[in-house]
Amino acid sequence: MAKKTRKFKTEVQQLLDLVIHSLYTKKEIYLRELLSNASDAIDRLQFEALTDKSLLKEGAFQPKIKIAVNNDARTITVADNGIGMGPDEIDKNIGTIASSGTRAFLEELEKGKGAADLEFIGQFGVGFYASLMVADEVTVLTKRAGKDQPAMRWTSSGAGNYTLEEAEKDGHGTEVSLHISEGLDEFLEQWQIQKTVKQYSDYIAYPIVMDITRQEEPKKEGDEPIEKVVEETLNSMKAIWKKAKSEVGKDEYSEFYKHISHDYIEPLRVIHFFGEGTTEFRALLYIPSKAPFDLFLREERRGLHLYVKNVFITDDCRELLPDYLRFVKGVVDSSDLPLNISREILQDDAVIRRIHKSLVGKLLGTFTEIKEKKPEDYYKFWAEFGKVLKEGVHFDFANRDKLKELLLFHSTKSKEGKPASLREYVDRMPADQKDIYYVTSESLNAAANSPHLEILKSKDYEVLFFIDPIDEWVAQGLTDYDGKSLKAADRGELELDSEEEKETKKTAREGAEKEFKGLLGFIQEELKDEVKEVRLSSRLTDSACCLVADESGMNANLERIMRAMNQEFQPVKRVLELNPGHPVLEAMKGLYEQDKKSARLGDYVELLFDQALLTEGSAIKDPGRFARLVSELMVAAKEFPAAKK
Ligand code: ADP
Repeated sequence: MAKKTRKFKTEVQQLLDLVIHSLYTKKEIYLRELLSNASDAIDRLQFEALTDKSLLKEGAFQPKIKIAVNNDARTITVADNGIGMGPDEIDKNIGTIASSGTRAFLEELEKGKGAADLEFIGQFGVGFYASLMVADEVTVLTKRAGKDQPAMRWTSSGAGNYTLEEAEKDGHGTEVSLHISEGLDEFLEQWQIQKTVKQYSDYIAYPIVMDITRQEEPKKEGDEPIEKVVEETLNSMKAIWKKAKSEVGKDEYSEFYKHISHDYIEPLRVIHFFGEGTTEFRALLYIPSKAPFDLFLREERRGLHLYVKNVFITDDCRELLPDYLRFVKGVVDSSDLPLNISREILQDDAVIRRIHKSLVGKLLGTFTEIKEKKPEDYYKFWAEFGKVLKEGVHFDFANRDKLKELLLFHSTKSKEGKPASLREYVDRMPADQKDIYYVTSESLNAAANSPHLEILKSKDYEVLFFIDPIDEWVAQGLTDYDGKSLKAADRGELELDSEEEKETKKTAREGAEKEFKGLLGFIQEELKDEVKEVRLSSRLTDSACCLVADESGMNANLERIMRAMNQEFQPVKRVLELNPGHPVLEAMKGLYEQDKKSARLGDYVELLFDQALLTEGSAIKDPGRFARLVSELMVAAKEFPAAKK
C-alpha cells in the first residue's frame, strides 16, 4: 500500500485542536493513557490466545511494555508486544472514524470551558489523543498478532491529516513514538517518567521497563564514576485485589480505580473482599462518585473485569452483576472457573451465578450502610445512580425488599437536597393515614403544584413525587411498603374519609350532585370524545378541575413517556373531576340554568378541559383557540381586578 494521507473527521479535529492548545497542567497523564492502551493490548492478546493457540507459543510469551527515550531526537517511545492493529483497525481506532465518545467529550469540554477537564479524556475512549498535549508529532508502528496482515505506520501532527503506510516491524504489538514539543523538555527526563509511572500506572499487571542510567562508585578512589545502563522495571505489577486490605494504601486503590474505570474522580467507596464458602473468589469493587456520560447508552462500557487463576479473561463480564448495578466497577478473580471459559459458558455457569449473588448482597449491604451512617454521601450517590438502582425494584424480585429500603423520593415534606425514604415517610404519617401516596409527573415543580394533591395536603398527608420516567415502572413493582399500599394521587377515587366523615359528608355530596346534575350532563356531552366521565371531585380544594386515570389505566405521565419513546399505544380516556366549591363551577351553573344552549358555555367547557390538560403537563389540542378564548374573557372582564397577592 502506498502512503496515504487522510483527513480526520471534523469532530476528531476539533478535539485535537483543543488538546493541542490546552493549558492543562498535568500533561504527564498522556503516559498513563498510552500505558493503559498497551496493557489492554496485551490483555486482549492473551485472551484471544486462550482460544487460538496459534497466536502465542505455549509458555514462551513474556508480556512487556518498554519506554525508550532518545534525548537527541527528542522522542519517547512506548512499545508493547500486545495484539497490535491491522490496517483497517488502525484506521478505525485512531483515524477517520469518530467514536461516540468524541462528541460527548467535546460537549463536556464545552460545558466546563476549563483546561482541567482534559484529565478525564480516557473516560471517553479518546485517551490516545492526549499524546498531542506534549508532542508535535506522533508515530504509531503496529503489527497485528496472528492474522497475516502487514505492519502499518501512522503519523500525524494533529493538524488536519494523518498518513498511513505499510511498514516493516518485527513481531506483533505497537510502538507509539512521540516527538516532544519545544519547551517541554522536562517530559524527556528519566526521573519524570519514573515518577509518572509510579504515580499512575504502578498496578499495571505487566512489566513496564525502561533503560535506566545509574552511576556506580568507581573501583578506585579518584576515578570518574562509571555510568551503567540497566533495563529496570518501573512498576510493582502487584494485582492489588490479591493483597491484604492492610497492605493497600488509599492512593493505590484510587489509581487502580482510575485505570480500570477511565474515571478521574475519586470513587465514593472501595469494597475489597474475599468470598468464601462453596465458591472462592476475590473482589475489588468501586462505587463511583459520578455517573459516566454513557450510563444510559446501549454501547456503554459496563461489566467487571474477570480474572481466572491470575489470567485476564475479559474487561466486560456483564454476567457478574445485574444491569441495575452496571455503574459498579471492579475486578473479580476466581480460581473455581476453567481457564478456557467462553462467553456462552459465562452466561450459564453455576460458579458465576454464586459470585453474582454474593456481589449483589455485598453491594446492597454497602449502600444500606452508607445510607444509615453517611446520609450526606448517600444523597450524592442517589442523585447519581438512583435512577439506575430503581430498575432493580422492577426486575430483581428476590432483592425487592432490600431495594425498597434504599429508595429516596422528593415529596411534599422532604427538604431540598434531602429526598425522603419510605421508612421516613411511614414514620411521619399522621395517625389517621392508611396508605402511602405518590404522584407521577415530569418535573418537581409540576408535581408539587399538581391539583391532585390538594386534598392530601389539606389533611397533612405527605405525597411522594415520582418524577423520573422509570418511576412509572417502579410504581408497578412497588405496590406496598411496611404493610401499606402505595396509591397514585391521580388515579381512581381517593378513599380518604373515615366512615363517620363519609356519613357527615354524604348529605352535602348528594345535594351537590343534584345541584350540578344538569351541568355535569352538559359537560359530559360536550366532551364525550375526550373524557370517559365527568364527576364531582373529592380531591380538589383550590383548583376547578383535574383529570384522573382509572386504577389501572394509563395516566398523563405514562402517555407522555410512551410518546417520547415512539411506542404504539391506544390513549385511554380519563375522568374529568370538577370542584363544586369553585366559583367557576358556580358561574357556569348559573349560565347553564339561564340558557342551556349558550355558546359561551361551550367555550367555558373547552377552557376548563384545557386547564385540566395544562396543569397535568399535557398538550392542548388547539393552543391558538385557547389563547383567543382567554383574551376574549380578559376583554369581557373590562377592568382587571388587582392581582392577587
Ligand atoms: P480507548 O483505549 O479508551 O478505547 P484510545 O483513544 O486510547 O481509547 O484508543 C483507541 C483505540 O485504539 C483503542 O480502543 C484500541 O483499539 C486502539 N489502540 C490504542 N493503543 C493501542 C495499542 N497499544 N495496541 C493496540 N491497539 C491500540
